[in-house]
Amino acid sequence: MNTLEEALHYPWGAELPAAGSALSLAPGLAWLRMELPFALNHINLWLLRDEIDGRQGWSVIDTCVDNPQARAQWEQVIAQEMQGLPVLRVLATHMHPDHLGLAHWLCERFSAPLWISAGDFLTARLAVLQHDSYGGQPMVDFFTRHGMKNSQVLENVFGRKGQYAHLVPKLPDQYRRLLDGQELSMGARRWRCISGFGHSPEHVALYCDDPGLAQPVLISGDMVLPRISTNISLLATEPEGNPLQLFLDSLEKFLPLPENILVLPSHGRPFVGLHERIKQLRDHHRDRLEEVMQSCAEQPRCAADIVPVMFKRTLDAHQTAFALGESMAHLNLLWHAGALRRQADAHGVLRFAPA
Ligand SMILES: [Zn+2]
Repeated sequence: MNTLEEALHYPWGAELPAAGSALSLAPGLAWLRMELPFALNHINLWLLRDEIDGRQGWSVIDTCVDNPQARAQWEQVIAQEMQGLPVLRVLATHMHPDHLGLAHWLCERFSAPLWISAGDFLTARLAVLQHDSYGGQPMVDFFTRHGMKNSQVLENVFGRKGQYAHLVPKLPDQYRRLLDGQELSMGARRWRCISGFGHSPEHVALYCDDPGLAQPVLISGDMVLPRISTNISLLATEPEGNPLQLFLDSLEKFLPLPENILVLPSHGRPFVGLHERIKQLRDHHRDRLEEVMQSCAEQPRCAADIVPVMFKRTLDAHQTAFALGESMAHLNLLWHAGALRRQADAHGVLRFAPA
């Protein structure tokens, strides 16, 4: 554990649910942990005991990617952890493949509706159909405009064409829309939706302060993670966007929540210390922004120049693509704030300098 992680409290210590098993966190609330085929090697999912229209069953929060291993883990959960009761509803915090991949499979199998924000449902529908949303030539052109010359990285980005549809092959045709501030009953408890921006189009976290719980609970999705900072990337579809500012503004919405709240993140372990973690994340981005400003003051920099400034460790091609997305997000925040100006050089590469 690093010193930042040590500032948080982990009520379950090193205990993790075994693959295909549930770990009970409170009556009617259980933690599932499924393996992912990425560097980020797992995702947490949550099972909530529920009743809809007189039927007993479960609400499932997030689903894992669609691959044989994830389906097998779900089969085990369905057989052993759900007391023979059906899934009544699938709720996705956001559209990313590790969260939404198996929604179609669970929804079809149990005739259960998918609950998700409109922003993420519609973007996911497009991503499934239009295979080059997260890769292909548009992303290569975008990366090139931000100074990426490494052919391995560009090939990797080109090859990501179709990756979303590979991990999320289908989506339900219909959905139930989640909105900021909306309250929903799951089991006997009321949960409130808190929307967040910058990581996905319209991420939804869920907050519950039911007096029957030992402490209030926040299902934070990817908005607040205990160990890694949430990936904030600029995308080719919105090249002038300001996702980092949106993310930092969204974090503010979690500050009024109580200090003793139990945070259930999509990656890492459940923790207490929401306000400390939000402070850490703000500090992290403030420090990165300072480094970016300093570097641009030395000479005009493109986003590719900024990658080694922000990321000191060695990155493979896949990680470099993510790192470039983050670098662009930091540059765009400073550009939107008026601290940096930008100009295309003779090769058409955008370079940023103090305004
Ligand atoms: Zn995500």
